[in-house]
Amino acid sequence: STFEELGLEKELMEALEEMRIEKPTEIQCMGIPAVLQGQSIAMGSHTGSGKTLAYMLPLVQLMRRDEALSGVLMKPRRPRAVVLCPTRELSEQVYRVSKSISHHARFRSTMVSGGVRLRPQEDSLNAPVDMVVGTPGRILQHIKDGNIVYGDIKYVVLDEADTMFDQGFGPDIRKFLAPLRTRASKYGDKGFQTVLVTATMTEAVQKLIDEEFQGIVHLRT
Ligand code: AMP
Repeated sequence: STFEELGLEKELMEALEEMRIEKPTEIQCMGIPAVLQGQSIAMGSHTGSGKTLAYMLPLVQLMRRDEALSGVLMKPRRPRAVVLCPTRELSEQVYRVSKSISHHARFRSTMVSGGVRLRPQEDSLNAPVDMVVGTPGRILQHIKDGNIVYGDIKYVVLDEADTMFDQGFGPDIRKFLAPLRTRASKYGDKGFQTVLVTATMTEAVQKLIDEEFQGIVHLRT
């Protein structure tokens, strides 16, 4: 199929054109429609499969739709999407992909990974922001400091979840998810939509899915 047939709108098609990306990969053919339909998904895929665009394109489109429907505008410290990555390198890669889309679709992303100075990140979170990409420890730090507020988080991506557990981020991931759960049950809404990417279905990832994401749709290529 084509990206258009998968349900992507004009602005995103233009972004793809500029990236000279013409034909969706297998995981994109599966992931894009599923995310657009509001499903939480677990993608069994690795770097090189096109996994980043498989979640980035539909999430940006969903955020634009939310904006059109409810008139919500991006606010400082209140991202609607958070992408957790195991390393600074992956954060940078994902952030770069988000940037190449935001040139076409009006939305703003920022990167807050560990190992770099806090202050510039604080400043970037104090400007209106839609999406935060970063490593779990640093994201939790910014939440603790009040630079990231939970209230509007609706989309959560756990990228390379298996590697995040390998790096010891398991407790941080759960700490990050807990308030979202409380919020979901408190307000009785569906809570948030999740995309979990993992190259291998390790025991730790399976346990996380069993405990936090029952009913998640598994996509495998
Ligand atoms: P990823 O698997 O997300 O790490 O992407 C790996 C590389 O494939 C990146 O350089 C992307 O720009 C590129 N890519 C992603 N989707 C496609 C596609 N549909 N056609 C060609 N290249 C792609």
